[in-house]
Amino acid sequence: MTTDTLLNDTLAAWDRDNLLHPTTHTSNHANGTTPGRIITGGKGVYVSDRDGNQFLDAFAALYCVNVGYGRTEVADAISEQAQKLSYFHAFAGHGNEPAIKLAKMVMDRAPDHMARVYFGLSGSDANETNVKLAWHYNILRGKPEKRKIISRWRAYHGSGLVSGSMTGLAAYHARFHLPLDGFLHTHCPHYLRRPDRDMTEAQHLDFLITELEAMIMDEGPETICAFIGEPAMGTGGLMPPPDGYWARVQEVLDRHDILLIADEVVTGFGRTGSMFGSQHYGLRPDFMTIAKGLTSAYAPLSGSIISQRVFDVLMQGSEDFGALAHGWTYSAHPLGAAAGIATLDLVDNLSLLENARDNGAYLQQALKDAVGDHPNVAEVRGVGLMVAVEFMKDPAAHEWFAPMTVGPQISEAMTRLGVIARAMPEGNIVGFAPPLSITRDEIDIVAKALRAATHEVLS
Ligand SMILES: *Cc1c(COP(=O)(O)O)cnc(C)c1O
Repeated sequence: MTTDTLLNDTLAAWDRDNLLHPTTHTSNHANGTTPGRIITGGKGVYVSDRDGNQFLDAFAALYCVNVGYGRTEVADAISEQAQKLSYFHAFAGHGNEPAIKLAKMVMDRAPDHMARVYFGLSGSDANETNVKLAWHYNILRGKPEKRKIISRWRAYHGSGLVSGSMTGLAAYHARFHLPLDGFLHTHCPHYLRRPDRDMTEAQHLDFLITELEAMIMDEGPETICAFIGEPAMGTGGLMPPPDGYWARVQEVLDRHDILLIADEVVTGFGRTGSMFGSQHYGLRPDFMTIAKGLTSAYAPLSGSIISQRVFDVLMQGSEDFGALAHGWTYSAHPLGAAAGIATLDLVDNLSLLENARDNGAYLQQALKDAVGDHPNVAEVRGVGLMVAVEFMKDPAAHEWFAPMTVGPQISEAMTRLGVIARAMPEGNIVGFAPPLSITRDEIDIVAKALRAATHEVLS
C-alpha cells in the first residue's frame, strides 16, 4: 500500500491524528511514513490487513498468540463470561468463578513448591508485583535493607518504572531517568557476546558466575533482595542459557539468601516445549511472572506465582499487620480468566507442548538449512518454538554489523514476502516465535522467506 492510499484513508488519518502507539517512531507515524498496517483478522498462524494482504505471523504477534488466531473456544468463553458476570472486584476476599478455576489450573501446572498466584493485567505489572512482594518479604523478616535487584543486560522485563529498570536494554533506560536506584545488571549470558573472544564456553560460564558473585560481595549480600531472569532470554535475542548456568546461579543465590524471580512471560505455557522454562532448565524460583501465553493475548491477564516460603511469611505478615495493601482494580478480572481457562485447555487438547518441542526442532533445522551456510550468519539458536538467526559482518573475526541495520532490513524483506519475523532490538537478530500450533508446511514457508530475504539484503 502506498503512502498516497494511506493519506486518503480516514481510519489511517484518525490513527495518525489520535493514537500514540507503543514502541513506534512518533513523528514518522504522525507524518504517515510508517507502514501503518491495520490488522483486521486472523486465523491459525495467519493475520490479514484491511487491504486483503495475508501474512504468516512467525512471531505470534509479540510471541503471545500461542494457540493461534481465531480460536472460537476462547472467544466463546469470553463472551459467555461477559454475559454472565463481566466484572466484580477481588478485594477483601471476593472471588469470581473463572479466576478461581484458572488459579487452580495454573497451580496444578506450576512447580510443586509454588503456593499461590496473584493475577494482574500485564507482564510489566506482574514483575512490579513480584518486586514489591519480594521487598515486603524481607521487610517482614526484619531485613528492610535487603532490597536491591540484580538483572542481566539484554533482559526484558517490561517497560514500567520498576520493570523497565530491570530490563537491560539501553533504549528503555535512556531519557527516562532509569534504572531506578538499586537495580543492577550483570553480563548477558550469551557466549556469542563473551567479553573476550578467546574465552572457551567453560571459561565464559565461570566468568558469568564470578561476576555475579563479585557484584553481590561488592554491594553486600545483606543488601541484595532478588535476582530476576528469563529462563531463556526473549526480547534481548532469543538466547537459551549456557549449559549449567542456572544450577550455578541458583547455588550462588541460595548461599546469599537471595530470591529468584523467574520471568516466564515468554517461556510460560509451552514455548520451550516444557510447561515452564523453570521446569525445562531446573530453576527453583520464589516468584514466577506469567502473562503472554496465559491467555494467548485473547484478553489481558498476567500472574505472579509465589513460593511456599514467601507465602508463609505473607501469612505471618497479615497476622501481625493486617491486609496486604496491594491490588489493581482489575486484578483477577473474570474476562481475562475465562480466556486463560480456554487457552490452557487448548494447550492440553492440541498437545502444544509436544508440538513446540518437535516442530521447534524442525524450525531450527529448517532455518539452519535455509541460511546456515550464509557467510553473515553467526548463529541459528533457540529452544522449542523460540528461535533466532543472528547476523554479523564477519562471524569468524567476531565483527558486528552496526546495530539495527541488517536485521530490520531482512525482517522488512520477509514481510514483503508475506512472512512476519521480528527484528529484535539492539542487534541484527531476526526472531521466530510462531503460534505453538504451527505445522511443518508452514515452517517451510517461513524458512523459504528467510532465505530469499537474506540473499536479497546480503547478496
Ligand atoms: C513482554 C514481556 C514482559 C512485559 O509484559 P507486558 O505485558 O508487555 O507488560 C515481561 N517480561 C518478559 C520476559 C516479556 O517478554
